[in-house]
Amino acid sequence: MTEGEAVFGTGRMRQRESNAPCRYQDVPAIRATGLHKSYPDVDAVRGVDLTVEQGETFGLLGPNGAGKSTIIAMLCTLAVPTAGRIEVAGHDTRTAPGRVRRSLGIVFQESTLDGELTAAENLRFHADLYALPKAELAARIEAMLDLAGLAARRDHLVRTFSGGMRRRLEIARGLLHRPRVLFLDEPTIGLDPRARDRLWAHLREVREREATTLFLTTHYLDEAERCDRIAILDEGRIVARGAPAELKSTVAADRIDLRTGDDVAAAAALRERFGIEAVAGPRGLRVQAENGARLVPRLCSGLDVPVHEVTVTRPSLDEVFLHHTGRHLRDEPGGGH
Ligand code: ADP
Repeated sequence: MTEGEAVFGTGRMRQRESNAPCRYQDVPAIRATGLHKSYPDVDAVRGVDLTVEQGETFGLLGPNGAGKSTIIAMLCTLAVPTAGRIEVAGHDTRTAPGRVRRSLGIVFQESTLDGELTAAENLRFHADLYALPKAELAARIEAMLDLAGLAARRDHLVRTFSGGMRRRLEIARGLLHRPRVLFLDEPTIGLDPRARDRLWAHLREVREREATTLFLTTHYLDEAERCDRIAILDEGRIVARGAPAELKSTVAADRIDLRTGDDVAAAAALRERFGIEAVAGPRGLRVQAENGARLVPRLCSGLDVPVHEVTVTRPSLDEVFLHHTGRHLRDEPGGGH
C-alpha cells in the first residue's frame, strides 16, 4: 500500500472538496462498482462490485496475489483505481478523498506504533495528525484505552506490550476519530489462539459501542466464520459472496455418519425407504443430505436396525474456498495452522 499521494491526517485532508450533502444513514458503508486496477505486468483487480452495509463485519478472502490488498488500498484512497467508482460512507474517493479518509480507520498488518512512546502518547500523536478537537480529546483517548482493555497500561511504553495488546492499541488508535468503517488487514496474524479470541471479543465490543463497520482480510477459517458476509476473491474477481452459512450450503451437502448394528441392512433400508445411497464411511455408513440435522430423527426411526451413533458434519468454509479457488484456505503461507 504505497501508491498515491494520500498522507493520512495531514492538512491535505482539509483541501477543497465537493460539499454535496450526504446523509450517512441512507447510504451503504462501502459501495464499489466496476473496480479495475492494472499494473504494467498484471491486472490485479478485474471488475469488482462490492457493497458493504453499515454495521456489517465483512471479510475479504482470497489466495495470495488475488488482489485483496489492492482493493483495500483503493477503498482507503491509497491507490487510484484504473477504472470504477468507490464511495465510502457516501463520499466518492475521487471527488472527496479527504472526507473518505476521515470516514475510515486502518489497522495495517505491520505495526505502525512507536514503541518508544506510551500507549496514551501513541494515541495523542495520532489525534494531533487528525486535528481532533482539543475539548473532547482527553476523554476520547481514555475511552479508547478503556475499550482496548489498556487503561491500566496507558503510561507504559508500547515496546513492553504483547502482540495482542499492540493490535488492540492499533485498533483503538484507528477508532479515535470515530470512523464509520475500520479496515483491518489480517487483524490477528501472528497472534496465538488466546490473543486471537481476545481480539475478536474486542472487535465485537467495538461494533456494539462504536457502531463501526468492519472490513477485514483474513486467511483464517474461524475468522471468516465470524463475519456477517464474506467475498472470495480469485485472480482479481469475486468468485463467491454471501453469509458463511449460505455459501456453505451452496457448495456441499451435510455429511451424516451412522454407526449401526447392521450396516448392510441399514444401507438397504436407506435406499428403499429414503432413496438415499449410503457409502462406507470411517465410522460405518456415510450419507449426504441437504439438511442433515432434520433428517437424522427420521432416519433413526425409519431404520429397523439399532443406530448406535450419528454424527452430522456441515461443510466448512474451507470446502467453499476450495470449490471456488481450487486451493485450501489453510494452505496459504501465513495461514498459521
Ligand atoms: P493479495 O493482497 O490478495 O495477496 P495483492 O493485491 O497484493 O494481492 O496483489 C495482486 C496482484 O497485483 C499481484 O499479482 C501483485 O504482484 C500485483 N501488485 C500488487 N501491488 C503492485 C504494485 N504496486 N505494482 C505492481 N504489481 C503489484
